[in-house]
Formats: sequence, C-alpha cells, structure tokens
Amino acid sequence: MTLMPAAFIGHGNPMNALERNRYTDAWRAFGRSVPRPRAILVVSAHWYVHATAVTAMARPRTIHDFFGFPPELFDVSYDAPGLPELHEQVSDVVSPTWVGADLDSWGIDHGTWSVLLHAFPEADIPVVQLSINALKGADYHLQMGAALAPLREDGVLVVGSGNVVHNLGGVSRAMPDAGFDWAQRFDEQVKESMLTDPAAVARLDGHRDFDLAVPTPDHFLPLLYVAGMAGATGTTAEVLVDGYAYGSLSMTSYTVGMPAPRTEGSGFAAPLPEAPPPDGANI
Ligand code: ZN
Repeated sequence: MTLMPAAFIGHGNPMNALERNRYTDAWRAFGRSVPRPRAILVVSAHWYVHATAVTAMARPRTIHDFFGFPPELFDVSYDAPGLPELHEQVSDVVSPTWVGADLDSWGIDHGTWSVLLHAFPEADIPVVQLSINALKGADYHLQMGAALAPLREDGVLVVGSGNVVHNLGGVSRAMPDAGFDWAQRFDEQVKESMLTDPAAVARLDGHRDFDLAVPTPDHFLPLLYVAGMAGATGTTAEVLVDGYAYGSLSMTSYTVGMPAPRTEGSGFAAPLPEAPPPDGANI
C-alpha cells in the first residue's frame, strides 16, 4: 500500500469551518492530494485530558466545544463513521504505553471537523481521535508520534490539529491577517526546525518567545506528533500553507511524505483565494 502522508493543520478560528479562505483552500487541496485513507486519526488540541485514549465508538458524535459563535456553527454535523478496531492497532504500535478506548465521552470535536469538513467533505472515511495526555511532557508526545509512524503503511492518515502559536489572551481584532513580532519569530523558528530537524521542535521551550506563543500546551502538542512521525522515518516536513491571524495565532500547516505531483503544473500548491478573507469578527 502507498505510504500515507501525515499533516499538522493550524485550524485557528472555528468559523473557518464555514468559510472559504486561503487556509481552507489549502486544506481542501491537501484532502484531494492524498491517497484515500482507510481511516483518519486526529490528534486535536481540543481533546486535552488526563489520559491517553482513542475514540472507539462506531458512530462518533459531532461535538460543539465552544461558545459565543453563531447558531450555524452549532448546526454543523460531521457524520463520519468511527473505526473501533483501530484502538487495538494504536495500542499495538505504542505498546507498552496504555491507550484507553473511549466509548461514550468524546467524539469528533471542532479541532477535527473544522478541518475535515474542507479536506474530506464527503465524511465517508472513518475518523478516530487520539487524546493528548495533559500529564505528559513534550518528549512523550514526540515519542508517541514516532510510534504511530507504522500506521502510515496501513492506510491511516494521521493529522495533528492545533496552532503553532496560540495565545487567545493576546488576540487583536485589528490584525485579522497579521502576526505580532514575537509570534512571527516563534513561528519561523518552528518552521526552520520542521524543514530540517523536526524532532527539534520538542526542545523549543527555551525559545525567547515560547511563553507568549505557547501559553498553554494544548494547541502546540499536536505538532509534536507529526514531528515525531517525520523524525521516525528520517524525513522532514513541508509547509502546506502559512500565515497569521489576529496577531497571536499562527495558521502555519505542515505535511510529511506527500506524494509527488503527477504532472507539471498540478503541483501541490494552495490555490488563490476564491472569496474575500473573513471579517474576523468571531474569535
Ligand atoms: Zn483550537
């Protein structure tokens, strides 16, 4: 079977689920460019709990884990099936790390569906989420990512969904498409690591801007899974799309192991925006 790529997606504002912009267009292009997965395993910033678990229900529910957004966002449903047997496979590859099987507490959260609505709009590929264990440090998450690498050989598309820079307290509505200097410095450092030595992103906690860029670990840690997967196979990442939102969010996304473009001119570049950027009123 073709080796499945992996990706880290900077999901940003939940309203991206309903909007079209250059980020969502890049996510769409990504979905069209990968071989059809047997399952999608998502490490979402929004399932940050005191355990390592995977969703193991046949029909995961759509979770609207936010507030203060328009009703149409609460009406979104992403009705992809689950794949309960993936629990055993994940347990095998990360052994001896224990992985719980979640049958009824979680489902598909907005870190997952805001991206998959664009990347896989048919919602016909099984989706499983892997929680981020909040009790563990960066090395654990990097090693988990490395351990998951064999799933790429078995048709599983692993997607980390978070944001490299994510400081909600620093959001500036006056900067809908720009980043503060510190946000840009940290994002650029991460980019340098992802493009040369992905595992090095686990050691960026000493960077001068780390505390501002990563005030809480939840949105940063999904990146470590993708960095770990790349490192495990001696490969580096490529930038899928990059940019900033509201000063204190980085929208940079990465891919690992994308198939080569079929013909010249059909390369994997994000298309130009088809719609004007969102007004940025909702975050
Ligand atoms: Zn988020």
